[in-house]
Amino acid sequence: MRCPVCSNEDSKVIDSRPTEGGSIRRRRECRVCKYRFTTYEIVEVIPLLVVKKNGSKEIFDKQKLLGGLIKSCYKRPISVPQLEELVDNIEQDLYNSLRAEIPSTEIGEMVMKRLKALDEVSYVRFASVYREFKDIDTFLSEIKELQKK
Ligand SMILES: [Zn+2]
Repeated sequence: MRCPVCSNEDSKVIDSRPTEGGSIRRRRECRVCKYRFTTYEIVEVIPLLVVKKNGSKEIFDKQKLLGGLIKSCYKRPISVPQLEELVDNIEQDLYNSLRAEIPSTEIGEMVMKRLKALDEVSYVRFASVYREFKDIDTFLSEIKELQKK
């Protein structure tokens, strides 16, 4: 957890308590400048289930989503940390929604919304493939196929 004042990454936890949203609120103190700040951290205790188009369910896989995005943004001016942030934001929103199951189509829409704000070309690339398949899993496997060629 980076200190908002001096950017030092080493902080000590002073207090820790769960919030209603399922995250943990932590009071931290920077070990360098002693600045105190609060962080909200996601606790991944309850696995989030993604409901696919065919009705089957699987555990939300952040790395899989990130991998697909990195591929669809290939040679575009979007950095991996930007995509990681995008995926983190989506994950946070998913957990904050307090639902145990999320349709994969909804995740696809969330990705597109955010991607559009980052880079139009990547958005179009993602959307054209994704909308045709209407399912993030089909899309991701298709991307993998394209990479092999
Ligand atoms: Zn500091």
